[in-house]
Amino acid sequence: MKVSDEDYINQIKQVTDMVDLNDYPIVALYNDGNFLDEKEISYNAQKKISSILDSYPGIRRVVIESRINDNTIEIAKKIKKDLSNKELEILFGFESANPDVMNLCINKGFTARNYDYYLAKMNNSGVLFKPLLLLKPPFLTEQEAITDVVRTVDYLYARGIRRVDLEVTTVEKNTVVHELWKKGLYTPPMLWSVLEVIRQYKQKYGDKMSMYISPFQYSVESLDFSRNCGRCDQEILDRIDMHNLDFNMDVFADLDCTCRHAEWEKKIQEQDRRDFPERVIRNLDALKTPQ
Ligand SMILES: [Zn+2]
Repeated sequence: MKVSDEDYINQIKQVTDMVDLNDYPIVALYNDGNFLDEKEISYNAQKKISSILDSYPGIRRVVIESRINDNTIEIAKKIKKDLSNKELEILFGFESANPDVMNLCINKGFTARNYDYYLAKMNNSGVLFKPLLLLKPPFLTEQEAITDVVRTVDYLYARGIRRVDLEVTTVEKNTVVHELWKKGLYTPPMLWSVLEVIRQYKQKYGDKMSMYISPFQYSVESLDFSRNCGRCDQEILDRIDMHNLDFNMDVFADLDCTCRHAEWEKKIQEQDRRDFPERVIRNLDALKTPQ
């Protein structure tokens, strides 16, 4: 069912009736899709929403979620103008700076090279990009997954990015990950790996870079997600929430559990000597064979 322009605008009005948006310097309009795609939300509705938000001087930055392509960046420039002096930030799925991971493990049709092209195109438009990175897409070992995110942060930092979001892969129905998981060929990363990514980016960049860890349970139900042994999970999740507030590493300082040594340290030693194409072929072959 198509959501009408009016539905979108009413939804914003419902929020503005309940809370004073002047109390919120950052407003995120996550629509679980592409805000800038006119097939999803017409420019008319995008413009109306922008003008509502623009009337709140307390809002400093508006964050939207969208794919980036030639069409959407043109619309982004228009919306940036509609928002007069507010920042416009586009949260988009960047996933990984490694083209093999992008092409073979994620298969998204977008690589870091595309990003360089759009970054150049957006130069001086005042529109900011916030890339979403992905921890542990399928076919990567635990250690490779950690390294992949850390290298992606390096890549983005070199291009002026100072804020990223980290999505930690979850198992959702009707996905390749789900099929692999059912056959024991995929497990989400352990929570220690999430902390290791944070530790490494902080060690390199300190306060110059921030990484928001997205919640594991979002709008789609997850069948499995990043876990530890079960005893230390809640404490670590609470600390991740604390880290998300001010990106302070100290909140993790005294965390430990036997599963860190007994499980995680073994897991990050696991190696896969096959190259990516071979891993993909072998894993997909395994999916074809009955249980
Ligand atoms: Zn534990």
